[in-house]
Amino acid sequence: MTTIETVEAVPGTSASILAALWQASLPSEQEIRRGRLRLQAKAASIVITIAASYWVLVIADFALWARVPAAAALVAALVATGTSIMHDANHGAFSSRRWINRVASCSADFLGASSWLWRFKHNRLHHGNTNVDAFDSDIAQEPFARLAPCQQWRPWHQWQHVYLWFLYGFFALKNVIFGDVRNLVDNRIGKQPLPADMRRSTVVRLVVGKFVHISWAVVVPMLFNPWWKVVLFYVTCSWLVGFALAVVFQLAHCVDIAGFPDEGAGRRGADFLEHQLLTTVDIASPMPVFGHAFRWMVGGLDHQIEHHMAPRLPHTVYPLVARRFHALCNDAGISVRLHPGVWAALCSHTRWLMDMGRRPLAA
Ligand SMILES: [Zn+2]
Repeated sequence: MTTIETVEAVPGTSASILAALWQASLPSEQEIRRGRLRLQAKAASIVITIAASYWVLVIADFALWARVPAAAALVAALVATGTSIMHDANHGAFSSRRWINRVASCSADFLGASSWLWRFKHNRLHHGNTNVDAFDSDIAQEPFARLAPCQQWRPWHQWQHVYLWFLYGFFALKNVIFGDVRNLVDNRIGKQPLPADMRRSTVVRLVVGKFVHISWAVVVPMLFNPWWKVVLFYVTCSWLVGFALAVVFQLAHCVDIAGFPDEGAGRRGADFLEHQLLTTVDIASPMPVFGHAFRWMVGGLDHQIEHHMAPRLPHTVYPLVARRFHALCNDAGISVRLHPGVWAALCSHTRWLMDMGRRPLAA
């Protein structure tokens, strides 16, 4: 049976001890500079991969043997754009210069999602209130899914561990087509109102972003290819990218070893680090080849604890910070939540979906 945990990730450990361990784990200025350079080189390789695969798929007249690997490369590079350019840039971690972060953050609009709404949804609602129902929009997928104990149970949730994997691929597409526009019209995301500082330029940027996305992903390919092939490829590609992004984010929070504090629990100030340790889980990548490929694809999202504690660091320094932090916590007798591998993380997410899909005693 699932219970709602209160924020007590590290019983008996004061917030100041946790803060001291975290401070001792942080990278030096030089390590951050090197990390940013590695991140920017990675971003360049992602952009080149997208351009080359797009040329093979859309413009050049290549046979199927070349198009299949190009399609796989395009999907992988689009996922990496989300995890390694868009995510870092929208947190202000891509560069030390604000304008470069702003330009790189437009990669969200390139992928079809409003960067302005994404910053509000992800940086403010999700990071500030991780796993807190009615605040964290990442766990708000009602009525399709029940992802937190406070949420209403419905009969079909008992099969959510089966059908939700399929729906994950469509959640991003749903936002691209009408979710963002609906949020603007309703002036809220879930139960949270949008910031009062929204201006007309925000709406213009959202509309321009949607046009840019539809232009490169649908309109231009239709100039060179039959329309039905373009639509089929667009939906398939969007499903794969949406599926990968949704699952990777879920593995850090929506799992049976993470906590789900209630609305009244502290999650600011001295409670902030404890809240992140309670609600967020890292994923170890023990296999050398697969681990490297997985890490390249997911950016820093296998080190979500470190990301949630310091989201303005480039994701390329998280492995270094995680090694230090986990070792210090281990010495201090503090347990850090860690999936031993990707498969274990997937099993943990499935168990959580099954747990939440069972009819609660009071329902
Ligand atoms: Zn983030």
